[in-house]
Amino acid sequence: TRTPVTVTITGAAGQIGYALLFRIASGQLLGADVPVRLRLLEIPQAVKAAEGTAMELDDCAFPLVSGIDILDDAAKAFEGANVALLVGARPRTKGMERGDLLEANGGIFKPQGEAINAGAADDIKVLVVGNPANTNALIAQSHAPDVPAERFTAMTRLDHNRALAQLSKKAGVSVADLRRLTIWGNHSATQYPDIFHAEIAGKNAAETVNDQGWLENDFIPTVAKRGAAIIEARGASSAASAASAAIDHVHTWVNGTAEGDWTSMAVVSDGSYGVPEGLISSFPVTTKDGKWEIVQGLEINDFSRARIDASVRELAEERDAVRKLGLI
Ligand code: NDP
Repeated sequence: TRTPVTVTITGAAGQIGYALLFRIASGQLLGADVPVRLRLLEIPQAVKAAEGTAMELDDCAFPLVSGIDILDDAAKAFEGANVALLVGARPRTKGMERGDLLEANGGIFKPQGEAINAGAADDIKVLVVGNPANTNALIAQSHAPDVPAERFTAMTRLDHNRALAQLSKKAGVSVADLRRLTIWGNHSATQYPDIFHAEIAGKNAAETVNDQGWLENDFIPTVAKRGAAIIEARGASSAASAASAAIDHVHTWVNGTAEGDWTSMAVVSDGSYGVPEGLISSFPVTTKDGKWEIVQGLEINDFSRARIDASVRELAEERDAVRKLGLI
């Protein structure tokens, strides 16, 4: 039998955690033949709720689960971790300034980065889901100097999947017929879903749809504001779709993108497409053998350029703000 893979999930007692854990335990994160050891990290006041979720996990009798630990200590939670899903974060509350939000999250992601640096397995892969995800990932990464920077990523896969769903509806095709869509920049309202390189059944998506009004006034805002629309409709924020995207992100990272296709991941920039080196920004990426690579050589038109630049500017401002706060 294979050695279990240790997966650490923070904020495990939260909404996304509840949707995520059962899918990991059933084998959808890493594969139906890969046993997993689950480490649930929570803040002390949520440990009891995490224990309740763990009782339900027990009751599913998942054959792949080799153990579940519930912890409120980051050092223990990340010890030997092969995959870390950083979901728990400080939500923005009414009247909270952006600086306060960044500072509160610095208090979470700095010690978690240090704990990953100190104790995670050599092959650790980190996905940050908790918002502001890109900057939280940057904070954690900057406190893990011994871990290669490319192991810290942030999630834009939900935005990517939302964009696929909108494009498939517009084109009247299945999402299976779509390829090469890209989310650029920050996981925020400034994100840019790009269909200029996307394909619908092998043909250029922007040319096939040929509707600039829809692109500007419908598609882009619908994708960017989808989270708010779900809160409005459901009375609670998206959780199952966020968990599903987290599963997709790690699954693709570990198992590779399909030949001729790519995905969207926020990864550390090497300066590609004019994104300042070191920022954790969303790009088109291919993955193979557990490594990602930014797709190179795409032509960026003026419409896309302006939108990518605006989102990257926001990321640079967030980086400057956390630098000023001494968090990186
Ligand atoms: P959720 O599980 O709903 O959300 C968790 C995080 O994911 C939030 O930062 C949320 O951002 C973010 N997120 C990213 N993408 C999405 C998306 N598409 N839809 C919704 N959320 C998204 O939050 P809960 O409050 O239910 O649970 C959080 C848990 O984390 C709590 O149990 C809390 O105790 C725990 N926690 C743990 C910490 C730790 O382990 N050290 C630290 C802090 C909290 P947004 O706020 O923008 O919705």
